[in-house]
Amino acid sequence: MGSGSRTGLMAAQQLMAGQLFVVATPIGNLGDISYRAVEILRGVAAVACEDTRQTRRLLDHYGLTTPLVSYHEHNEAARAAELLGRLQAGDDIALVSDAGTPLISDPGYRIVSLAVAAGVRVVPIPGACAAVAALSASGLATDSFRFGGFLPRKSPERKRLLEQMNQEPHLTLVFYESPHRIVASLADIEAVLGNPQVVLGRELTKIHEEFLRGRASEVRAALENRPQILGEFCVVIGRRERVAAFSGDPAAEVARLVESGMDRMEAIKKAARAAGISKRELYRRLER
Ligand code: SAM
Repeated sequence: MGSGSRTGLMAAQQLMAGQLFVVATPIGNLGDISYRAVEILRGVAAVACEDTRQTRRLLDHYGLTTPLVSYHEHNEAARAAELLGRLQAGDDIALVSDAGTPLISDPGYRIVSLAVAAGVRVVPIPGACAAVAALSASGLATDSFRFGGFLPRKSPERKRLLEQMNQEPHLTLVFYESPHRIVASLADIEAVLGNPQVVLGRELTKIHEEFLRGRASEVRAALENRPQILGEFCVVIGRRERVAAFSGDPAAEVARLVESGMDRMEAIKKAARAAGISKRELYRRLER
């Protein structure tokens, strides 16, 4: 078959194919869903979801009776192929996760990538995302940030990741974390990133929504004072002073700190402390 007729066949298949809608759902408050999302969930042939009970509750709230198909990390491979078959046969399908935007630390990558590769139209229906919600109200710099998904569960891997992130101290960092590990993670953030400003967004959009702000050590102490730590957390980490091993040369250390954006007086104070000499002595050396 010539490439022209192959292209023609693919175009014809695309015309017949359904569309895959990637639909964001609420992260707590059921009102946080767009009109368009509700209409899409009403109109599609099926909604592919992680937990059918959870999505049924959402659909019931909006009076929707659309059939559900389970699609989660354990059946993703088989289900993705099946859903692609339905899309190619002309069904419109909506993909949702339990909460927030599908594919953001949630299943969906496989079906979306398959659909794109097969030339099926993929349509995003944007809405809630815990990471963006936390960042937007954090009060920390938002011009450039890195979303890192869930922090690793084990401390050595977590520290390694944080060390990598410390290579780009100008970026605000955003992570997801569980209530069981939040205190240990804050201790690692403090140790590796030099006790930066952090904002924890807890239970966002829910009745007990809360923001905890301060240095990592302060926020950790506030949590440790609680009888128990409950809820869902997003961790936002502010810009950091680059924490690097002291080279041994205080003058070079001042230059390095100033280059990374630190005020010169502050850099001299810090470098003098690291070298175990007085500020005055360091001034004298710098003058020389
Ligand atoms: N796809 C989702 C999104 O767009 O936000 C994230 C799914 S991920 C499996 C779940 C994690 O997101 C939770 O463990 C928590 O760290 C964070 N999260 C979800 N809902 C949250 C909320 N209401 N408040 C704070 N963090 C939340």
